Amino acid sequence: MPTIFVDGREIQARKDETVLQAALRCGCDLPYFCYHPALSIAGSCRVCVVQVEGRSWVEIACNMPVSEGLRVLTDSDLVREHRAAMLELTLLNHPVDCGICDKAGECSLQDYHYKHNGRPSVSVDAKVKSTKYHPLSTRIVLDNERCILCSRCVRFTREISKSGALGIQDRGDHSLVRAAEDGSFEHDIYSDNVVDLCPVGALLSRSFLHQARVWYLEATPSVCPGCARGCTVQIWHRKQEWKLHALDPGRNVKIERVTPLENPRVNGSWICNKGRDLGRIFERPRALQAMIDGIPVGIDAATLAARELISAARKPVALVSSWASNEELAAFATSLGGRFTSFVRQDREPEPGEVIEDKLLVRADKNPNAAGARERFPAWDGTLADDVDLVLAWGEHFDLACVPAGARVIRLDSYAHADHARAAVFIPTSIQTERNGHYTNFEGTVSAFSRCFPKPGTVVDAEALFAALGVAATVAA
Ligand code: SF4
Ligand code: SF4
Repeated sequence: MPTIFVDGREIQARKDETVLQAALRCGCDLPYFCYHPALSIAGSCRVCVVQVEGRSWVEIACNMPVSEGLRVLTDSDLVREHRAAMLELTLLNHPVDCGICDKAGECSLQDYHYKHNGRPSVSVDAKVKSTKYHPLSTRIVLDNERCILCSRCVRFTREISKSGALGIQDRGDHSLVRAAEDGSFEHDIYSDNVVDLCPVGALLSRSFLHQARVWYLEATPSVCPGCARGCTVQIWHRKQEWKLHALDPGRNVKIERVTPLENPRVNGSWICNKGRDLGRIFERPRALQAMIDGIPVGIDAATLAARELISAARKPVALVSSWASNEELAAFATSLGGRFTSFVRQDREPEPGEVIEDKLLVRADKNPNAAGARERFPAWDGTLADDVDLVLAWGEHFDLACVPAGARVIRLDSYAHADHARAAVFIPTSIQTERNGHYTNFEGTVSAFSRCFPKPGTVVDAEALFAALGVAATVAA
């Protein structure tokens, strides 16, 4: 553990750390663009300069190994002068079009300029023009005038996603980030991470382009349900105090974007593109109407009918959802676990064309809480005995063909499906973004998700429903 001194402050560094890493870990406020803890050192942006005490020049902290007794200054006159000069160079050909840039509000360049330079440009030459809207893929667009050539995006595709899909062509102020011509960036399922990595507004998501200013949004911590990895994410949606009144009010309960929530135990700094597209999962047509034998009824009537079926059943089986939260599973086990023979069903299987599994994050099991459910109940083998007379089928994609002739069905689902009208009782349930809960991923790590939006008035939380149905179980017992 070498001891170093940053601005006279003693820091216990780790042997393999750089000065920048040790300083950041101890709360020092050093600027940087090209450095990222998960990527190799590029040393290209030169803005993290520090001065070793006694020397008359500056050096980059991101590539300076720590050594016993090393003393560096991060705020000397020399450092301040060089840092400001580097920022001036970085901005030399930058269009400074913050007013129309999606990165405004979360741009390192904007923040560092005001903090460490703040002066107007002294250049009298016209700025070099470049491509303003270069589609790198169907998901990502590049503004070359804003690019500061930090190479984070390039290193990501080489070191993390391993597609090697991006590179920098040409030299000097003609340098351009470009995608390989073989289409590998289009097929890189981790491509959208470069949008987060880009410290400026050069790489932008086409689905989020000009959709919202980030200061009108809030981020709710959540868990991607796309596979058993259970990556922690932030779901961005409109702040209540900025809700739209005149424009489309549907935007007030819309997922504007999804970004990774850094989590070293689960997904590090990354998520796959499926996790970015959670709107495609959560914003599908909902089931909003309870039914008895296909006839619309209120939730109370449907719950009463379900209770009667449970009370009367001789051999009831429950097929428990692998998308249920640990809290819902616990509520089911407490209220109905003793009444039903229960199995865990796979709500979702891989879709055609979907990556089944890879070495970075993606898992073959496309359900977020199969592990949590199987801690309580065994896996279902897809069959039901002929003498089963009641099936409680919870979750999506349930095929009624497997139900024995004459058995009654109670269906719980959140999304619209024509088969719901064929159940004896159908009860619509809330979705993940409408409640709090936890999932257990395939490695046993438990992650929390929080409510983003209110649930529609005609659907019920499964936890509350099981408590109400539990009365039937008590009666039957
Ligand atoms: S596009 Fe962004 S991440 Fe890529 S080199 Fe330019 S500034 Fe860096
Ligand atoms: S790896 Fe799985 S859990 Fe993570 S973002 Fe992708 S689909 Fe979601």
